[in-house]
Amino acid sequence: MNKLFRIDQCLKLAQRWEILKTISTSKFIPNKLEALKRVLSYRQCLKETGFYIDIGNVCNSKCIFCSTGNKNRNGCAPTEKGHFMDFELFKKILDYLEKQHFLHTNNNQMVALYNWGEPMLHPEFERFMDYITRKKRHISLSTNGIFLPKFSDKFDASCVSFFRLSMCGFSQKSYDKIFMSDFEQCKKNIASVVHEFRAHGCIGYFTLIFHVYQFNTHEIKAAAEFARSLHIGFWPVWAFLVDGERALKYHNRELPVDYLTLMSQYLFHGSHPRGPVNTCSFTDICINPDGDLNVCVMFPKPIGSLFNMTPESLQAYYATSEFCKTCKAAGVPRIQCEDNDEFDLPSLSYFL
Ligand code: SF4
Repeated sequence: MNKLFRIDQCLKLAQRWEILKTISTSKFIPNKLEALKRVLSYRQCLKETGFYIDIGNVCNSKCIFCSTGNKNRNGCAPTEKGHFMDFELFKKILDYLEKQHFLHTNNNQMVALYNWGEPMLHPEFERFMDYITRKKRHISLSTNGIFLPKFSDKFDASCVSFFRLSMCGFSQKSYDKIFMSDFEQCKKNIASVVHEFRAHGCIGYFTLIFHVYQFNTHEIKAAAEFARSLHIGFWPVWAFLVDGERALKYHNRELPVDYLTLMSQYLFHGSHPRGPVNTCSFTDICINPDGDLNVCVMFPKPIGSLFNMTPESLQAYYATSEFCKTCKAAGVPRIQCEDNDEFDLPSLSYFL
């Protein structure tokens, strides 16, 4: 049994223990049996269509390989600056998704409150959480740890099933290159997120997503130890171009030389470890802060109002979309489609 596998097993056991402790002691979980059933349904959730409702396409990081981060780093027109979703619109969206049977009544689908933004930056984050928690939906969250809001005593995190905590390395030097933020503060915030959410009844899985770049492989071990100290999962992934427009340009050989140089210096695999992929099995639903559907998680490109779509018309769109044809012809599809950005076991065991 290799070292990574042992760490993975320990983390899973430690995290399961934390979840059981939370179920048995939290005031936010009155029905213990229901909570146990919920934990058992997590595996099923991963097989179902996912929903990405971007409650704000606003981010505080400056990741060079993400379209939002790039705008933050290089500046953009006021019209391109992100904004937050209106709470009334959010309610309408959830109700519509249920009415049109995008969302099933069995509650085994995951609703992620992010796509291109940092969800906890939303000034009414708790209000959104409260509404979706009352519907007993599985919630997925993600954060870079740069900002941690203050939570009220009544904040209920019991429906958060998955929480992705992203790190771009484990030193200030790495953070200066990508997030351009204070590493120690992020580390502190990530630890606080885990403790705060557990204290507010979260019985979901936390995973530290470590983005592997050429410059931070020697930091993998310290990050894995950090995850272990918090009793959370550790999931290193190859960093890559999570920006559909630039990925399209990369495959069509239209990216400027300075950007290509940075890619060759920072990333291991050009655009993506698996190279061009010409098929797409994307099925998730991505909704932007205006209530429009985006073509997919890779492209912040609206294809029309959600309120004019049904599951059937959306399927028809993907079957005939000229944009998807161009994307596939260029070899871009990957995230959620043909993705496999996981760091492989032999590579990781080498670094641990
Ligand atoms: S073909 Fe491209 S644009 Fe269309 S859904 Fe797949 S990845 Fe997105």
